[in-house]
Amino acid sequence: MSKLNPRQAEAVKYIDGPLLVLAGAGSGKTSVITRKIAYLIEECGYPGQAIAAVTFTNKAAREMKERVAQLVDKKKIRGLMVCTFHTLGLTIIRRELRTLGYRPGFSIFDQSDALALLKELMMKDGDIDMDHVEMIQNMISNWKNELISPEKALSMAGSQGEQQIAAIYQHYNRALKAYNAFDFDDLILQPSLLFDEHPDILQRWRAKLRYLLIDEYQDTNGAQYQLIQTLLGNRGGLTVVGDDDQSIYAWRGARPENIAQLSKDYPGLHVVKLEQNYRSTSRILKAANHLIDHNPHDFNKKLWSEMGYGDPIRVIRTANEDAECERVATEIMDQRLRTGGRYSDFAVLYRGNHQSRLLEMKLQQFQVPYIMSGGTSFFSRQEVKDSLAYLRLLVNPTDDNAFLRIINVPRRKIGPSTLEKLAGIAVQREQSLFNTCGDAHALNANFPPEAAKRLFDFHDWISGVRQRADEGDPIAAVRAMIDESDYENWLHQNASSPNVAEKRMGNVHSLVDQLKQTLGWLQEDDPDADLEAVINRLLLRDMLEQQEEEDDSDRVQLLTIHASKGLEYPNVFLLGWEEEILPHRSSIEEGNVEEERRLAYVAITRAKRNLTITLAAKRKQFGEWQTCQPSRFLDELPEEDIDKLGFGTDTEKAQNKERGRETLASLRDLLKK
Ligand code: ATP
Ligand code: MG
Repeated sequence: MSKLNPRQAEAVKYIDGPLLVLAGAGSGKTSVITRKIAYLIEECGYPGQAIAAVTFTNKAAREMKERVAQLVDKKKIRGLMVCTFHTLGLTIIRRELRTLGYRPGFSIFDQSDALALLKELMMKDGDIDMDHVEMIQNMISNWKNELISPEKALSMAGSQGEQQIAAIYQHYNRALKAYNAFDFDDLILQPSLLFDEHPDILQRWRAKLRYLLIDEYQDTNGAQYQLIQTLLGNRGGLTVVGDDDQSIYAWRGARPENIAQLSKDYPGLHVVKLEQNYRSTSRILKAANHLIDHNPHDFNKKLWSEMGYGDPIRVIRTANEDAECERVATEIMDQRLRTGGRYSDFAVLYRGNHQSRLLEMKLQQFQVPYIMSGGTSFFSRQEVKDSLAYLRLLVNPTDDNAFLRIINVPRRKIGPSTLEKLAGIAVQREQSLFNTCGDAHALNANFPPEAAKRLFDFHDWISGVRQRADEGDPIAAVRAMIDESDYENWLHQNASSPNVAEKRMGNVHSLVDQLKQTLGWLQEDDPDADLEAVINRLLLRDMLEQQEEEDDSDRVQLLTIHASKGLEYPNVFLLGWEEEILPHRSSIEEGNVEEERRLAYVAITRAKRNLTITLAAKRKQFGEWQTCQPSRFLDELPEEDIDKLGFGTDTEKAQNKERGRETLASLRDLLKK
């Protein structure tokens, strides 16, 4: 690792009391933490197990561990904790389970488990509108993040509505305990409550953990901060690093003010500021500084870099969202070919997960390998997997896995014993489960008439769809199949809310749209391309996706801005810089554009060398084309450092179109070769 600058070295070596490293993006804050862990172990003689370093994501934790392993003798890092707040909490919970009143074999409820539980409880209470379940889940989460117990929430509640919600909170907590389960927020909250009630246990943990380091401190919420304060006591073994301009988790209870709070709570706090950025070109840095200057500031931070002035930042406006994603895909291919770089040198960042859908499709179309982190990829969503299983069975009647996945989705009253028997017959006759369903003779001989009919009807139906697809419009046949399957109703019956069901159904429709587009595209090269060819194309994609998530092979990185915190890439694309996307509509309505500006700042500062910002002039919303306004943040970038494309005159438009066509044509040629 490179040499530390004097300020960084000061931060690494300062161990006389609590330390705050306050500095802008890319100035080496995370590097200070890794180096400091090494320093504590190698120079100060701390055993690995006496140190805990907390980072924001599992990915960041893994990276940090790897970096430490390069700096320190393997034997000495045994027991060193480098993890997220949730993992730290979970470790404590595991060891103290009995005192917490839990039994071994506890469960952790994720968001959707917790939501389902809440829904169940609220149905019992009867008088609360189901649409509010998610809102109530948020309120409970906020309470937990602020260490407010159900009893306290009840006593604070003013209106009758608030009282009701606080009462639900109380029921919910009791139910979790009855299920021997924790929700995510409990992982932080419960250890704090435990330490409050059991000073002896706290002493034990204090004796074990002697030095704490926290990365991305600005995004620590009340409960997390409390846990750290409790563990630390009045000792000095604390290093936190952060940047108030990168505080982007207000919705989880984090506030930029946290940083100011720290110096109030620790009057002896030593502060180190870093000013040299080692990540980005001066131009990228200047743009980031320009933008964030539009927010009010408690702390003044200057950032400079010696990475050269760099290329202009490009802002590309396309006619619509489709063209936007296509442009990003072709730009990546083009830049990669020209620079001879790797796909993994490119990252595309967006505000919300839904923005990735169209992009994924375009990347697939151009066969650009990609990997998504920090979100559920389109192809691993349940409803997409279900639909794919239908499609698989449609083109491959011997696909038993696909058959088993959907034979009872939606419910068709075909029970496990029927399926077991069916499997027996299939083995005997050496044919697939699906084909066995078409064997009327075998069915009648082995099943009661009702069960035989259900199996046969299913076979008859799918075979009919296949015939319609072969003889007529395959896409229309697929759409009809989805209609006839009654999948939409089934989603509504099983989703936590009508909203969720509609979103899922939207994904199913979007998959069919992808089928249609892929078919059109395949037919350009091969007029005989049929449904089977398209589905196999999509399936191949799906299988690639299932490869190890941590696979660090050569792929474009797709992630939300939130998930990109702390990371860096040579070439960065930022999608959808439009009003109501970034800044997000809800933030505009709530008057919280400052947080959105910080998000934009985080996004820009991920880039090392090249930054391209894109936006669409039109976007489809609820089936209608809407005109989009460029994001106000674009006006807050230094004009002289920006190349704007697609904003101007008709000639520019024509030129762009022509250039786009040429690029596309040459890329297609390249692909064919
Ligand atoms: P962020 O605010 O985005 O989390 P950060 O402040 O944590 O950024 P790092 O990720 O630690 O910054 O460092 C940014 C880049 O600068 C990394 O590639 C790191 O290796 C490099 N770097 C840090 N310190 C130095 C140094 N003294 N000399 C050379 N490179 C450095
Ligand atoms: Mg960092």
